[in-house]
Amino acid sequence: PAPDRPIPVAVLGATGSIGASALDVIARHPRHWRASVLAGGSRVAELIELCRRHRPDHAVIADEAQFANLRDGLRDAGLTTQAHAGMAAINALVASDACEVVVAAIVGAAGLDSTLAAARTGKRLLLANKESLVLAGELLMATAREHGSTIVPIDSEHNAVFQCLPVDGDRRALASIVLTASGGPFRGRTRADLADITPAQAVAHPKWSMGPKISVDSATLMNKGLEVIEAHHLFNLPAERIRVLVHPQSLVHSLVEFTDGSTLAQLGLPDMRTALAVGLAWPRRIASGVDRLDLLQHGTLQFEAPDLDTFPALRLAFGALRTGGTAPAALNALNEVAVSAFLQGKLRFLDIPALVEDGLAMLPVLEATSLDVLREADRDARAAGVRLLSRHHT
Ligand code: NAD
Ligand code: MG
Repeated sequence: PAPDRPIPVAVLGATGSIGASALDVIARHPRHWRASVLAGGSRVAELIELCRRHRPDHAVIADEAQFANLRDGLRDAGLTTQAHAGMAAINALVASDACEVVVAAIVGAAGLDSTLAAARTGKRLLLANKESLVLAGELLMATAREHGSTIVPIDSEHNAVFQCLPVDGDRRALASIVLTASGGPFRGRTRADLADITPAQAVAHPKWSMGPKISVDSATLMNKGLEVIEAHHLFNLPAERIRVLVHPQSLVHSLVEFTDGSTLAQLGLPDMRTALAVGLAWPRRIASGVDRLDLLQHGTLQFEAPDLDTFPALRLAFGALRTGGTAPAALNALNEVAVSAFLQGKLRFLDIPALVEDGLAMLPVLEATSLDVLREADRDARAAGVRLLSRHHT
């Protein structure tokens, strides 16, 4: 049954790939949900276009220099959507009664504050911004627990595990989880093959259509490394009970192993709208626009071990998780610096994990006792990353 009025949803990162998928699913169910707050980084014209289509109450552009453009553009379009700018405005709207559900789909550590703000509200949090979990996972999970916010992971693997875990079941029966990885565009290549990879080659993912940063992360396998750390926090499992299996078809999204020998998996076409539909409606299921999986049409499902020599980023992430403290925050920050430089043509593909490894070796590991300590570790690692860039310069 539909609620009395549609549930208002804030979509943070509305102009991105996950944002588009979230808005697509919401628009399929106008009696149940409506996009009430749309927030984007800096692309004002795209944000205004989304406002035309979805008629939210509020639109926020994170880049404060763009406020006038947003306000005037909304007015010229004849919209009553209220214009705002800056991160503080995003956080305030997340906390206000302008929304009851928050889709956290800003990319990178830039999403941490708004994700934390959402966790403090007791609202349902559809969490795509995996970097905030890598950077401050313990704190974020504790904040959500304390305020009664339900986190539904919007990462295909973690959403798969979420679906396979028994709702009220015995968690002691959970043995381990297996995250699947497509292997990215360079699966099967050797290091020598990867010396001259261009940004265009790296972002051309064979199975998933995603934003540029996560596409590069998928090509280096750092994405899977970030996901191992993400899984550790979401499901409270040690590194030893999280494994990675390469599965090039990207149809099995992850597996959960139980103590009785059962393995449960979630399968589906690679389209994030399924995870977003689960996030909005769980424990119900709703149409997402994604077709059902026809296994006969796909034929074979393959599985292989990840190649850690060619893709050392996955090993580095496991190492940072085992080290703990501020190491995952440093790993994430160094990776953000390296990926951004790679996308600008200032760093070679193989130097992405090399820069992360060198940075981790330089930086001290502190106990992650507070948000301030983590923020400082993030800042220090970015500064170290920038210094290392000159050394790795192509
Ligand atoms: P994207 O680059 O397509 O979109 C990023 C969004 O964040 C844009 O709306 C952009 O305007 C906004 N943004 C960027 N910097 C910002 C800032 N400083 N302040 C405010 N907003 C800012 O990225 P995406 O692929 O949609 O990924 C978003 C997040 O979801 C990432 O953390 C990614 O790891 C995660 N994720 C994505 C997918 C996918 O299929 N795309 C799958 C799993 C997880
Ligand atoms: Mg994923």
